[in-house]
Amino acid sequence: MLGKNKWGIHPDTHKTPTEGKPIESNALPGRVILPVSQHIGAPAVPLVKKGDLVKKGQLIAEGQAPVSSHLHATISGKVLEVADHPHPTLGKNPAIVIESDGLDEWAEGLPTERDWKSLDKAEILAIIKNAGIVGLGGATFPTYVKLSPPADNPIDTLIINGAECEPFLTSDHRMMLEYSERVATGILILKKVLGVENVALGIEDNKMNAVKAMGEALAGTGVKVMAVPTRYPQGAEKTLIRTLTNREVPSGKLPLSVGVVVQNVGTAMAVCDAVRNGLPLIERIVTVSGSAIAEPKNLKLRIGTSFAEAIAQSGGFKTPPEKLIMGGPFMGVTQYTPEVPIIKGANGILAFTHEDINDGPEAPCIRCGQCLDACPMGLNPSMLSILGERSFVEEALNEYHLLDCMECGCCAFVCPAKRRIVHYIRYSKKMAAPKGGK
Ligand code: SF4
Ligand code: SF4
Repeated sequence: MLGKNKWGIHPDTHKTPTEGKPIESNALPGRVILPVSQHIGAPAVPLVKKGDLVKKGQLIAEGQAPVSSHLHATISGKVLEVADHPHPTLGKNPAIVIESDGLDEWAEGLPTERDWKSLDKAEILAIIKNAGIVGLGGATFPTYVKLSPPADNPIDTLIINGAECEPFLTSDHRMMLEYSERVATGILILKKVLGVENVALGIEDNKMNAVKAMGEALAGTGVKVMAVPTRYPQGAEKTLIRTLTNREVPSGKLPLSVGVVVQNVGTAMAVCDAVRNGLPLIERIVTVSGSAIAEPKNLKLRIGTSFAEAIAQSGGFKTPPEKLIMGGPFMGVTQYTPEVPIIKGANGILAFTHEDINDGPEAPCIRCGQCLDACPMGLNPSMLSILGERSFVEEALNEYHLLDCMECGCCAFVCPAKRRIVHYIRYSKKMAAPKGGK
């Protein structure tokens, strides 16, 4: 499995267009669309209705289930409607639409300065929950849940993920350079919550300036800042755990099973902002890039801003795009309209021209084995694709560990036959999911 030495791929990183560009704050959006589902778990329940006046940072939807997350207004203004809108991952989904009043006023009591060192674990967890923080690396699992492992599952290690291994994306990189102190403080707060001594921040070695900046910000804290080899998908939880701790998460298990919790650098910064400054999660940093974008940038965007507005702020399209993606080119989600909103897990908006969409015709598998070498999970992607193509789901599940596939796309990237391996795997997973599941 992960213990094998040969795994992953070395695609062109395409980070040059944005890695040297400071984060720009966008203009106040005229309108935001805030889906009540932008996290793993049950949707948040709306607390506002059409016509209500809201302030920035006000709680507008409540995560009531054990795994869910709160949602806050990201601008001040009037609720235009609570209705279905295009969603980056869920087709159409209920969302709260707010029209700006142009004032951008905070809700009463926000922001609030706090001495986080005087807070205990329960108080910090409550703040993180109330701030609506989820995994900002893209996974969007509610952070307070991840920080509350079962009592019989001891955690001894916290890993902070600053790998940012997907090509094109530089939002975490710029964050570590420009907001090192906030990221560092967030890491120390997470360390306190978990009560662990062993904390490591992993950053790919194509970002040595970020390794230096974070090393300085964390000097004397005991947190290890480690450069890890640039190799996709280094930033996947299970691969980063293996690289930094030499522990292997068993098939079908979570990082908790080997005593590890992984949090992204963006999540750490959001934790700092919430715990130290009383700020709910209302904005995030997004890379806007790709061959169809006129001026690739890193933008600080209010959650709920439309992709179209972010793209306009990046000079618009220089050529009509063939493909629009939320996230990275490997694990991102293709969009059918630029009217979708930025959600909490959106670390990138990528737009590509026709020339860059290298689909080409698919051919039968020639059994070259390249996909087996590339798979970071030690799977047999060739067999998984063939079984998916033929709808042999039980065999894929039971004999070929279908559910261990993280859909990283390494196999499809190296396949000379251009097999749509991930497509077949996703199809099998969909067939295998319980009714109503994804
Ligand atoms: S997409 Fe799945 S099968 Fe393909 S390389 Fe990644 S983990 Fe392996
Ligand atoms: S890389 Fe493609 S052609 Fe080669 S074994 Fe895998 S699926 Fe078959």
